[in-house]
Amino acid sequence: AQYPAKDELPDTNHPLVKKWIAEIDWSKVPKLPLAKADIPNCPDCPAGKKGVPKNACWWTCDGCVAPDDIEVCPREKAWGLTYDDGPSEDTPRLLKKLHQANVTSTFFVVGSRVLEYPETLIQEVKEGHHIGLHTWSHAGMTSLTNEQIVAEIKWAEKIVFDVTGLKTKYWRPPYGDVDNRVREIVRQMGYKTVIWTKEWDSNDWQIPDKTITNKEVFRNFKWALSTVPKLKGGVITLEHDLYTQTVNVA
Ligand SMILES: [Zn+2]
Repeated sequence: AQYPAKDELPDTNHPLVKKWIAEIDWSKVPKLPLAKADIPNCPDCPAGKKGVPKNACWWTCDGCVAPDDIEVCPREKAWGLTYDDGPSEDTPRLLKKLHQANVTSTFFVVGSRVLEYPETLIQEVKEGHHIGLHTWSHAGMTSLTNEQIVAEIKWAEKIVFDVTGLKTKYWRPPYGDVDNRVREIVRQMGYKTVIWTKEWDSNDWQIPDKTITNKEVFRNFKWALSTVPKLKGGVITLEHDLYTQTVNVA
């Protein structure tokens, strides 16, 4: 097959991956311990902040933001609407709603989903939305080896390019899981790390488990809007287009 297996960590011995690995200056990549996680889940933060190395700047665990992370929109009170984890079978309905509302958005797409729904990715681009990468298998990046990180990003890059002819400048770490080791690797591959303004995560990914209700998402959203005047720049919000229920809330 031309691409790695869906939703699995790509083989780091693949000739293309070996070529991509050789393009990185590894002397610049900080040596940090790999996070413990049942791949591909979000790594657990060590109990307390004691277990977090000082030079890690591990957003997942202590909210640390690097100077070149994109956390807020540069424009005053603008807010970047973003959708993660797609494309999925529900994305066309979301696209229709965005089109009707005359709103463009940024979709951070998972390579494995692009493999399933290439036409939907093409539609996103055609309708003026921006595309960013969200890795190949949606693994927690801080738990992966350097080589696995390269493979996760570059296979996503390759399939997006193969389908659309575009190379994006942005990526968003799954679960927001990023530290300085991951950042340096993706920086060298030409990507800016986009995370979301922490208080703004609408928690909509919890809906399929029924842990929070549609009403609560809406309330979070209203609450978030009410905080706009207090935030310095714009904010970046996080939504997911993976699940049917999520799209119905939009
Ligand atoms: Zn995600």
